[in-house]
Amino acid sequence: MARALVVQLAPNVWRIPLVRDFVNGFILRDDDGQVTLVDMGVKSSGPKVMAALAVIGSAPSDVTRLLLTHAHPDHAGGAAHVARETGRAFTLHHDDAAYANEGSSPPRDRSFLLGRLVDRFSRAGRDFEPVPVEHEMTDGEVLPIAGGLRVVHTPGHSPGHVSLLHEDSRLLITGDAIFNVRGLRWPVKSFCTDFRMTQRTAHLLGDLDYDVAAFTHGPELRDRPREAIRTFLARHPAD
Ligand SMILES: [Zn+2]
Repeated sequence: MARALVVQLAPNVWRIPLVRDFVNGFILRDDDGQVTLVDMGVKSSGPKVMAALAVIGSAPSDVTRLLLTHAHPDHAGGAAHVARETGRAFTLHHDDAAYANEGSSPPRDRSFLLGRLVDRFSRAGRDFEPVPVEHEMTDGEVLPIAGGLRVVHTPGHSPGHVSLLHEDSRLLITGDAIFNVRGLRWPVKSFCTDFRMTQRTAHLLGDLDYDVAAFTHGPELRDRPREAIRTFLARHPAD
């Protein structure tokens, strides 16, 4: 059976399963046809992002904005390809912008052995092709995308990690603040810059208002997602 190239989440919002449901990107389309792409998956995902665009009937020239939730290789890996294909540059939070531009991941949490090892390993070279950056977003900013896309800075997983709230469709993109892989769970500790901060800032997501929770890792929740996330957070209080 062919896998879906896009999953519609709201009238103007789609998820792009880039590595099955494990790694996702997103498309938001304005009423005038302008397209915003969010997260570009791993290195081989770039062509899949472009194919998804064709599936919804949009052209590369319709793409006016490119966003990254953070500068990790499973989100920024396909970014340089998409930048070339669309002729656009990226918007991401100030605290991850320099990393994206260098093609390197922010530091890993060195309080975990694996984090120390991975950190030492990856410091040696590039993690992904450098990403052109044109705008640095800030916490609370409402980007003029599909009626307004609110930036919620949720640092910890990386310094400039953000979640995104689309108020028109009442849809939250969590980013890597919380995964939905075989149930709600934390991102892998050793891949966070500061795991405890990841846990603390994820609690911001329990206070927002939304009817669909979309995850960069795992399928969306459409059935009372806010309650599910609040329950998860209540079971995993921040230190
Ligand atoms: Zn990730």
